[in-house]
Amino acid sequence: MSSLHDFSTLGRRAEGPSGSSLWTMTYPPGDPGSSSPLSKTLFRAYVRAMTHTLHILGGGMAGSEAAWQAAHMGVDVVIHEMRPNVETFAHRTGHLAEMVCSNSFRSDDDEQNAVGLLHWEMRAANGLIMQTADKHRLPAGGALAVDRDPFAESVTEALLALPNVRVEYGEITELPDDGHWIIATGPLTSANLGAAIQAETGAERLAFFDAIAPIVYAESVNMDIAWLQSRYDKGETEEEQKAYLNCPMTKDQYEAFIDALLAADKTEFHEGETAGYFDGCLPIEVMAERGRETLRFGPMKPVGLTNANRPDDKPYAVVQLRRDNALGTLYNIVGFQTKMKYGAQTEVFKMIPGLEDASFARLGGIHRNTFINSPTLLDNQMRLKSRPHIRFAGQVTGVEGYVESAAMGLLAGRLAAAEILGKTIETAPQNTAMGALVHHITGGAEAKTFQPMNVNFGLFQPVEGLKGGRRGRKDRYKAYTDRAKAEWQGWLDAQ
Ligand SMILES: Cc1cc2nc3c(=O)[nH]c(=O)nc-3n(C[C@H](O)[C@H](O)[C@H](O)COP(=O)(O)OP(=O)(O)OC[C@H]3O[C@@H](n4cnc5c(N)ncnc54)[C@H](O)[C@@H]3O)c2cc1C
Repeated sequence: MSSLHDFSTLGRRAEGPSGSSLWTMTYPPGDPGSSSPLSKTLFRAYVRAMTHTLHILGGGMAGSEAAWQAAHMGVDVVIHEMRPNVETFAHRTGHLAEMVCSNSFRSDDDEQNAVGLLHWEMRAANGLIMQTADKHRLPAGGALAVDRDPFAESVTEALLALPNVRVEYGEITELPDDGHWIIATGPLTSANLGAAIQAETGAERLAFFDAIAPIVYAESVNMDIAWLQSRYDKGETEEEQKAYLNCPMTKDQYEAFIDALLAADKTEFHEGETAGYFDGCLPIEVMAERGRETLRFGPMKPVGLTNANRPDDKPYAVVQLRRDNALGTLYNIVGFQTKMKYGAQTEVFKMIPGLEDASFARLGGIHRNTFINSPTLLDNQMRLKSRPHIRFAGQVTGVEGYVESAAMGLLAGRLAAAEILGKTIETAPQNTAMGALVHHITGGAEAKTFQPMNVNFGLFQPVEGLKGGRRGRKDRYKAYTDRAKAEWQGWLDAQ
């Protein structure tokens, strides 16, 4: 049996996914190839022996970027990755940073697009995911598409080439008591670890499925048709009594809307992705399939509301949109989680009176997706309030997408490394894409209805003195991105 402070005998050098040398833990010791978890006692002793090491749980987009950033700040890093020993239904390889579905990092426009701006910020911060994506770029117009296998191989090789990064393969099943940790286990966090997180946070603060209703930019709603009112004017303050945007429908509009919902193209769940969502959040189209009147007696019921624009008209049905962020720039369509394809969603939702010209900050969806209620659980340094030695990063924090996940890894990696080195770094400035996103998940979002979020300009604080509406959009977005770049560079320079 190895001594508690000598863990070298627990593992072996192994051939990595692309012929590189990998460090593999064996669980339990002496049982090479077994994927059973390390015993609790041994695991705890092992972590104690490495107090100045940053342990990153999960070698996906976020974990890989966090490791790269921390290692470049001079910190020793261990990435704990369960693949290939333990598989998920979506990953196919043992590589780090595997793209599980599309091969796109979306728009690369850093002047007019929020995700393009996030690309820019990550490039400026020596981001591994972005520089590797650039290396394996495929032609895709204004989007950044990549050759997925060489991309993941390159990320893996780049990390293993660093003298202060090690990868240990095996599932981690409990929350560590001490040490410095980042949990970046993503939307498919293993069930054992999910249970450990739930035990710490409370069952209601860890979700296993998202149920995303479409989110609309408030400025794109036609207020000659829609009006602000909470059902039965409920609430103590005027703000609460006007917390919802209401879109009225006549009988003909309602019938046409139901027909369109029933006819729309839908996406299927991936193989192995169980549909355990049916209890609390039926997709809107499934509700419509249960009966043409179901929605009128559910999320679209027209009661307790008076049309402020036409008080004499009694709506046959009402679609409600609820405020989605503290800034009041985004509203989600209440109860409209859906498995409709994106193209179908925009067509169908624009049939809603008042939303004919709506711009969507994000479209709806329902996916297998493990994520915590970050607004209540994390501080602005991405630390778990109840156990500040643990940070969370990536999709498990309630951001959505490869780029956003990698971005949260970049930030968490820097914050954690600074802490280990005895320094303090402020979290990213709110006017940057990185800052807008982290501010949203750790405070700006409504905690009660928190659902995963993409980066978008609706998360940005307005720039004073610029024209609102569609006409002013180009200038506004340019002003957001100029301001963000200057503040991001300032943040980097201060480190
Ligand atoms: C089916 C599916 C399709 C998707 N399609 C897209 C898409 O097309 N575009 C897009 O932008 N995003 C997509 N996403 C979201 C995508 O997964 C994230 O954007 C991104 O991969 C999240 O990065 P991450 O680092 O947070 O998690 P991941 O990249 O998933 O990395 C997490 C890592 O943690 C490991 N892990 C989990 N539990 C443990 C444990 N207990 N111990 C050790 N290791 C563990 C996993 O094996 C994994 O390698 C999709 C997600 C799913 C599930």
